[in-house]
Amino acid sequence: MNDPRRSNPLGTDSCVCGQAVVAPSRSNYSASAVVNEWHCTACGRSWKTFADSAQPEGQTT
Ligand SMILES: [Zn+2]
Repeated sequence: MNDPRRSNPLGTDSCVCGQAVVAPSRSNYSASAVVNEWHCTACGRSWKTFADSAQPEGQTT
């Protein structure tokens, strides 16, 4: 249930303080990438993650 070594860019992320952030405060979608903005309610830190939004169709690996 809890795998801190794996971060899902569209699901949850973990702050450097150890607080789990269950959802990005904001997501910006562009043609080729997704920028998620995260905000930690525990320490007030904000950061961004980047992820590819282009996923090959018919390939779920
Ligand atoms: Zn934090």
